[in-house]
Amino acid sequence: MQTIVESQASFSVTDKGFYGHFGGAFIPEMLYPNVEELRQNYLAIMADPAFQAEFQQLLIDYVGRPTPLFLAKRLSEQVGASIYLKREDLCHTGAHKINNTIGQILMAQRLGKKRIVAETGAGQHGVATATVCALMGLECIVYMGSIDIERQKPNVDRMRMLGAEVRPARSGSQTLKDATNEAMRHWINNPVDTHYIIGSVVGPHPYPDMVARFQSVISEEIRKQLLAKEGRETPDYVVACVGGGSNAAGAFFHFLDEPSVQLIAAEAAGHGITSGHSAATTALGKPGVLHGSRTILMQTEDGQVTEPYSISAGLDYPGIGPLHAHLFDSGRGTFYSITDDEAVKAAFNLSKLEGIIPALETAHALATLNELPLQPDDVVVVCLSGRGDKDLSTYTKYL
Ligand SMILES: *Cc1c(COP(=O)(O)O)cnc(C)c1O
Repeated sequence: MQTIVESQASFSVTDKGFYGHFGGAFIPEMLYPNVEELRQNYLAIMADPAFQAEFQQLLIDYVGRPTPLFLAKRLSEQVGASIYLKREDLCHTGAHKINNTIGQILMAQRLGKKRIVAETGAGQHGVATATVCALMGLECIVYMGSIDIERQKPNVDRMRMLGAEVRPARSGSQTLKDATNEAMRHWINNPVDTHYIIGSVVGPHPYPDMVARFQSVISEEIRKQLLAKEGRETPDYVVACVGGGSNAAGAFFHFLDEPSVQLIAAEAAGHGITSGHSAATTALGKPGVLHGSRTILMQTEDGQVTEPYSISAGLDYPGIGPLHAHLFDSGRGTFYSITDDEAVKAAFNLSKLEGIIPALETAHALATLNELPLQPDDVVVVCLSGRGDKDLSTYTKYL
């Protein structure tokens, strides 16, 4: 594995938390002690063999890892290349998010924290956080916009059943960004005993790097599984959807400095890139600071963050993580914008061809298979980030 570690050099984060022109920690002074405590400790804690042993064991026994790498034969035939699905939908709670929350709850314990705070939009990260808090017996407070609380009742009920306290954010647009503000405020006021679990590769350094490392188990497994199945560790393409970018970061991580592997990211074009209702960040965005890091984000002429839209709640984010901004900026990654309709079509297609109902987010990644210039002997891995049960009420409108 030494070659992998060495090869990470050009796309790994710098000491100050930068990926090329993006990243950093642009935070209010009040937040500095919390973020600094984490920055000074996260790498040493993650390198501790006892930490790794506990993390790896929970990934096996609790999350259900390794997740299968499945050769989708009928989809492969249709597309005209070998398509493998990395089945993160089979993780406990139905998506990749738990890989990160397991890692961060162990981190919080090592830092001596007694309470977890998190923000959630659609509720998926809130559920993954409430789950690991129940597992470890830590108090859990999840901030959620009051409009989102109404829209996402099943996830609110799940969090409550898991013992979390869901606190409504009633300011501003009463959605994710307001929940984020409230969670930050809570953390500032409770710096000693509270850890803030961020759900994607976003936020101030060291969060993007820490979350990418926890999710990198995805590409670590892909390399081993592909070697067993194809006799080679590297595919021609790795494809993933990008909201903040954590499942993509995990799927790309151990291929970042393998130029033969094309990294394909799918973002949400909503009703269309120019429709005014989209979350196509790289297509529409410009550099700016969002949630503590310099990245690419959708904004007005005078720098106000634009309200994003996507049919999938997990891609409904106005920015992307700084690693992905760098992949886009440097040309290392290729970004496709997929509309709501294209995503829904891809979801129905996979369901009927392979008997797997994907999450709406994941469906955006699947839709790129129609756009890639694939050759018959190409090997493609699609990160199947989550299962579609949560999206049934949306899908049924298209039946
Ligand atoms: C949350 C979510 C996403 C988007 O988050 P990333 O950080 O971009 O991975 C994608 N797929 C599923 C199933 C999700 O729940």
